[in-house]
Amino acid sequence: MLTNIRIVLVQTYHPGNIGASARAMKTMGITDLVLVKPRCFPDPEATRLAAGADDIVEGARVMGSLAEAVADCVQVVGASARLRSLPLPHFDEPDAMARDLVENAAHDPVALVFGRERSGLTNEEIRCCSHQVSIPANPDYAVLNLSQAVQVLAYEVFKAWRRRPGSDTPPHSPGERAPNREQLDHFHAHLGRVMQASGFLTQPHARTEEHLHALFARAQPSRKELSLLRGLLSALEPPAGRD
Ligand code: SAH
Repeated sequence: MLTNIRIVLVQTYHPGNIGASARAMKTMGITDLVLVKPRCFPDPEATRLAAGADDIVEGARVMGSLAEAVADCVQVVGASARLRSLPLPHFDEPDAMARDLVENAAHDPVALVFGRERSGLTNEEIRCCSHQVSIPANPDYAVLNLSQAVQVLAYEVFKAWRRRPGSDTPPHSPGERAPNREQLDHFHAHLGRVMQASGFLTQPHARTEEHLHALFARAQPSRKELSLLRGLLSALEPPAGRD
């Protein structure tokens, strides 16, 4: 059930939060837990707070970076209490996010990403995301405990999954599917090489690449459109630089 939906916790400080998040997941039928560089894991406190969800804690995969944790995902939603400078597509309402996520999860892996207790997600980590979501809360104090944020969003996902349109909707054709993060990374690396080689990027500190990242995040190209763009870049490349 809900097997394509992954919960990623980045550099969790308190192992108890890992256990409580696992419990929150299991109550909502989500089982795939990935931990990016947890401070302390495995840990008895994680198992204690997981209660009946100790199987989720035991099955958790530990990875060295967020990019690695979500490379195969076609949608990566970063949960954040406040907006950062990167203008990614943003869901103000968790139920709208959950409907979109459940739809994508019918065909491919997707992820919900949660940041550190003290400092949330870095800008570089937000760059690994395709979208952001905020849980609406008291403007004077909108920061939830990590595992409670997992609970709220997991509940929304579960609700959307129960109410999803019937399984009679035809699957996307392969070309219409969203690219995964690894395919998008290859595209951005290719675009970067062409911009360098053509002399278009002249100022090393200009935020051109960042703006283009945001543009393509909003455009949400399909796999077919991305391969069209890769073909265009290859045609523009000087012959020696082609890969
Ligand atoms: N001081 C940190 C808060 C971290 S709370 C910051 O400013 O980002 C730990 C994690 O819980 C956050 O990184 C986020 O993933 C999640 N979280 C907490 N409150 C949230 C909210 N209102 N909406 C969405 N996610 C939230």
